[in-house]
Amino acid sequence: MTVRGHRRTPGRLLAALLVLGLSLGVTSTAWAGPGRTANSTVVDSTGQPGRTVALTFDDGPNAGETSRLLDVLGTRDVRAVFCLWGQHVRQHPDLVRRIVAEGHVLCNHTMRHENMSTWSPQEIRANLRATNEVIHDVVPGAEIRYFRAPYGAWGRTPEVAADMGMQPLGWRLSVRDWNRPGTDVLVQRLMNGISRGSVVLLHDGGGERAQTVDAVSRVIPRLRGEGWRFTLPARTG
Ligand SMILES: [Zn+2]
Repeated sequence: MTVRGHRRTPGRLLAALLVLGLSLGVTSTAWAGPGRTANSTVVDSTGQPGRTVALTFDDGPNAGETSRLLDVLGTRDVRAVFCLWGQHVRQHPDLVRRIVAEGHVLCNHTMRHENMSTWSPQEIRANLRATNEVIHDVVPGAEIRYFRAPYGAWGRTPEVAADMGMQPLGWRLSVRDWNRPGTDVLVQRLMNGISRGSVVLLHDGGGERAQTVDAVSRVIPRLRGEGWRFTLPARTG
């Protein structure tokens, strides 16, 4: 090959990269991070084989339980997803900083837990954007990887969230912890209900959640003892 040929190769490479960049640019609104894109599929599993499970906590941060939950997760070396209300982020910025500093993953759960099932994409986008802005005021640059619709009332939120780079995040197991049925009952429901790859819905906010934190504290070592591994939900559907 001639010297001239050698020179041309990087040029072609650049051109190819440019084309790749342009094609990605077309879908840039769905860009969710290095090498990843969000899509409108509601993720409800870890996407990993074997005994894997992902814990997700909604409606915080909450002055009562979030801090204790973070202690439990930190001691047990478990990473989890926190689906935050923008309003609660404003009230408890230090807890949000702690969530991020301790390696957990953020999820947009709207400003005030709005039911968006009948909202237009424009209305949804405005709320989700405002929520992300509130979060980024507190933790600038932090990745907000997921979106979860309050009440599971998805409406048109999955397409809007995906377009904003957030993967819609559902769940496979809910133990209805908001009813506070007792820690023993919650432990039993978790132990019986978790299946391979489950995303588990729990709550650290929206009310008093001491039972949830106690149940999580008891369940983590038991599940590990049975060979379960704690991980995060799949990044895309
Ligand atoms: Zn919620």
